Amino acid sequence: MNKFYPSNRLPLAPSAFCFLPLGSVKPTGWLRRQLEIQATGLTGNLPKFWDSLGPNSGWLGGDGESWERGPYYMDGLVPLAYLLGDRDLIAEAEKWIGWTLSSQNEFGHIGPKSLDDWWPCGVVLKALTQYYEATSDARVIPLMEHFFAFMLRELPHNHLRSWAIMRWADTALSIIWLYNRCGDPMLLHLAHVLAEQGYNWTHHFQEFGYTQKQAFRFPLSTHVVNNAMAVKTPAVAYVLTGWEEHRRGSYRAIDMLDTYHGTVVGTFTGDEHYAGKDPSQGTELCAVVEYMFSLENLLQILGDPVFGDRLEKIAYNALPATFTGDMWAHQYDQQVNQVLCTVAKRNWTNNGDWSNIFGLEPNFGCCTANMHQGWPKFAANLWMATHDNGLAAVAYAPCTVSAKVADGKDVRLDVETDYPFDEEIRIVVSTDEDVEFPMVLRIPGWAEGAVVNGQAVEPGSFFRLHRKWSNGDSVEIEFPMRVETERRYHDSVAIKRGPLVYSLRIGERWEKIAGEEPHADYAVYPTTPWNYGLQIDPVNPQVEIVKKSIGSIIFDSKSAPIEMRVKGRRVPEWQLEQNSAGPLPPSPVKSSEPLEELTLIPYGCAKLRVTEFPLIQD
Ligand SMILES: [Zn+2]
Repeated sequence: MNKFYPSNRLPLAPSAFCFLPLGSVKPTGWLRRQLEIQATGLTGNLPKFWDSLGPNSGWLGGDGESWERGPYYMDGLVPLAYLLGDRDLIAEAEKWIGWTLSSQNEFGHIGPKSLDDWWPCGVVLKALTQYYEATSDARVIPLMEHFFAFMLRELPHNHLRSWAIMRWADTALSIIWLYNRCGDPMLLHLAHVLAEQGYNWTHHFQEFGYTQKQAFRFPLSTHVVNNAMAVKTPAVAYVLTGWEEHRRGSYRAIDMLDTYHGTVVGTFTGDEHYAGKDPSQGTELCAVVEYMFSLENLLQILGDPVFGDRLEKIAYNALPATFTGDMWAHQYDQQVNQVLCTVAKRNWTNNGDWSNIFGLEPNFGCCTANMHQGWPKFAANLWMATHDNGLAAVAYAPCTVSAKVADGKDVRLDVETDYPFDEEIRIVVSTDEDVEFPMVLRIPGWAEGAVVNGQAVEPGSFFRLHRKWSNGDSVEIEFPMRVETERRYHDSVAIKRGPLVYSLRIGERWEKIAGEEPHADYAVYPTTPWNYGLQIDPVNPQVEIVKKSIGSIIFDSKSAPIEMRVKGRRVPEWQLEQNSAGPLPPSPVKSSEPLEELTLIPYGCAKLRVTEFPLIQD
């Protein structure tokens, strides 16, 4: 049991790590810059012009939007505000949280008076737990205790319905959070009632029958966001039951989603139901940020480094790809092969034709409200606490960790790196006096030849450095990033290096199609050809790496911090179909077009891109 940070109390199953309270890990370097971009983009400005989060919101006491959008916004605004220490954002967060804290009635109900759905409460509780960690506001815990007692009285006759059935684990996480702080057995009872009324995702993935794109029926169980959230649900059930079937269930979930609907950037398709492996199908932004949140919880509960590899893959590829570099516009659906972003008819399962453009509220406003949690929660959860009073790096980015270790000494760790654009990471220890504690480092599964302080370490493991640390001690880490290929849809080939996936840089022409600057809607047209195949040896790919500097805008095609040169040829028969890149010609493909040098850039920078390429037969 960690002495300083809450662990699971009995009879809950133990978790591998403890979360550090919000604010213990602060972003630095390029990651801080990315959060600042988010703050000066839509996140910091939406309430000024987006009606769903305007002064009339039901979550501010008005009679406007009174369901999930206010809570979604708080869930991302709170960590962003406190990680940046930004006075204006903190004031905005306090406005929303303050109203919520004052909204509780004598019975325990919270939120707009008209709210009769448990689902938005599950979201707002996540925001409240983060707010409490950052502020220790004494109003939070009594409000949660009162609310959960109300919920336990109500649930027998006012059941979970609709989304709340699918998303019960998110509420369970807040119940577990509170139980670990106050130990009230009523909370365990409530968590089990929730699990009984909630959908059995462990069974869903165990008996997984959705092996194809879904065409006709759209139950909530095939919905992309529900599934991204559900990746963690068996593991949350495991905390409650300790059952091996539940512990294995989250691995099974990821395996099934990868096998039948997976993408090369670690997500799965859903536009907005399971959509198969064709890289022209879409993935909703809500599913990207929810998958990340699921992985952060899987790391904490199960402590397997594979979840860290996956978290970085999604955070460094799928997340930035679906925003403009300045974070003033986002998509609803992103495609792995995305060669034209317009409102023309698409091959989605049931999303609207506006889903693929970059804008304020493309297709539907859920992502506009929910997208804010992605970057700040990733930054907050880069490090966790170990049960033997040490610290663990579960994902890598520049940051500063301030935490208690050993028998209560305060230490600071400065993680200095340009990772994932660079292979080297330096961790510098600051401490008033010598202190012994374990530092646990995730060694990515791809990092063959990884070295920590000159010592070879095992890829796909957690490496422990248990020793006495003095002020100024440092840990030098090198994760060699080999260029790797992955065979994908129709035997196509994709290129990866470290946590980054690389895509063809396509010239972009942005055209405003609706709305007002700076939060307008844009279509994106290609100005250069996209229908290339790669002429490479997939076993031993020969490419040239070109390192550039990290600019003030990080994830944009014009300022990519790293590029790759490869050889390829046009594949003339590969053309648009239904306004997306048509079905990939099965590889290998013959082409008599001239051999050209192509530039690939990180997937997250390429707003138009080809990522799964036909392989040219030599
Ligand atoms: Zn959404």
